[in-house]
Amino acid sequence: MNRCICIITCFLVFCLLVPFPVHAAKKKPGVFSEQTSASIRPPAVLNEMKHWSNPDYTRISLELDRDVTWEAHELGKGGNGKPGRVYIDLKRTRLGKSVTDITIGDGLLKGARVGQYKADVVRVVLDTENFREYKIFPLSDPARLVIDVRGERPTEISRLEPVVTAAPERVMMPKQEDKPHVVEKKLKPPPKSALSKIRRIVVDPGHGGHDPGAVGPTGIQEKDVVLAIGLKLRELLTEELGVDVVMTRSTDIFIPLEERTAIANKVGADLFLSVHANAAVNRSAAGIETYYLNLAKTDKVAQLAAKENGTSLEKVSVLQAILFDLMANYKLNDSAHLANEVQKSLHKKIRTIHNDVKNLGVKQGPFYVLVGASMPSILVETAFLSNATEESRLKDPAYQEMVANGILEGVHSYISSLK
Ligand SMILES: [Zn+2]
Repeated sequence: MNRCICIITCFLVFCLLVPFPVHAAKKKPGVFSEQTSASIRPPAVLNEMKHWSNPDYTRISLELDRDVTWEAHELGKGGNGKPGRVYIDLKRTRLGKSVTDITIGDGLLKGARVGQYKADVVRVVLDTENFREYKIFPLSDPARLVIDVRGERPTEISRLEPVVTAAPERVMMPKQEDKPHVVEKKLKPPPKSALSKIRRIVVDPGHGGHDPGAVGPTGIQEKDVVLAIGLKLRELLTEELGVDVVMTRSTDIFIPLEERTAIANKVGADLFLSVHANAAVNRSAAGIETYYLNLAKTDKVAQLAAKENGTSLEKVSVLQAILFDLMANYKLNDSAHLANEVQKSLHKKIRTIHNDVKNLGVKQGPFYVLVGASMPSILVETAFLSNATEESRLKDPAYQEMVANGILEGVHSYISSLK
C-alpha cells in the first residue's frame, strides 16, 4: 500500500506537445499515480465516458480498467463567444473501442471529445461554453476519474430540465398487502408550509450488486440490510409524510457513487438520505452515527470514508484536498441540522428496545456519495455489522423496521422545524 500522491513537474516538456498556445494553458496537475511496476504493466483502457447535467455543475465520469496518472489543462473559460477548453491527458492509456464523443450542450459544456493523442496517451477534451472551475476526483472499483465542471449557466438554459444519461427508477407505490404491519402510531403531520419545502426525498441504500459493503461475522452483507431498511423507509416516508420518494436503487444492483447524487439532483430532491451499516477492525465497536459532508477530523473517520468510498486512504486524502475548495458550495448548516435530528430520533427509537445502544453522535466526513448533492444530505450508519450483537440485530426485520422508523421521525422533526 505504499502508493503516494505526486505532482508531475514536466510541465514544459509536456507543453511542447500541446497544440494550443502554451502561455494560455493553465495546468492543473491533479495526479494520482501508481508508481510500482507501472512501466511493466500493459496500458490502462478507457472503457466508458458518461455525463450528467445538474443545475450548477456537469459531471463527466471516465471509466478505466485500472488507476491512471493524468494531467489536466485549462484554456480559457468560454463565454462571450470565446471557446474554452479543459483537456485531460490519461497517461499510459488506450482508448476503448466503444468510447465515442458526446454532445452535451447544457450551457456549461458543449461536449466531450476523446482521442488517442499519442500511442500511450488518451486525451479527453471538454469544449466549454462557460464555466468557473473544475475538479477531478479519482474513484475505485471500477477505477474512474470524475470531473465536475462548475459555473453559472445562462438563465434560459438553467430553466431546462436537467439531463441525466442514466434514468433513475421511479417509485412504485406498495401494494396493499405489502404494507408494513408494524406501522406505529401516526406522526403528527408537519405544518403544511414546512412540508411544501420538502416534497421529494431520495433514499440511497448503500452499495449493491458486486459491492457487498461491510460483511458481518456470520456473513450478513451491508448491501442487503440497507436495501431492506431503505425500502421500509420509502414506505414510511410516503405514507406518513406524503412526500414523493425516489430510490437510487430498489434492487440488488450496483450504482456508482457519482451517479447517486446525480440522480438526486436530476429529480430535484429536497433531501438525500444515504443508508449504511458500519464496520470496524475492532469487533467490539458498536452504535449509531450520522455523517454529513466535510473534511475528516480524525483518522478513524478517514478510514470509514475510504471504506464507504470504496477507495484507499490515499484517494480520500486527494478528495479532502479538493473538498477544501468546494465546501462553500454545500448546504453545511442544513445538512448538520438534518443529521442532528436523524441521529437523535434514531438513537431514541433503538434505545426503546436495546437500552445499551451507543449514541456515537453526528460527525463529518469526506463521503464521496454526498459530493455534489445540491440539497441537505446525510449518511446514516445504522449499526456496526462487524459487531456480532449488532449484526444479529441488523438482519432482524423488526430492527430494520425500527431503524426506518427512527430515520422517519428524524426527517419529520427536521421538516417540522423548518419555518
Ligand atoms: Zn456502506
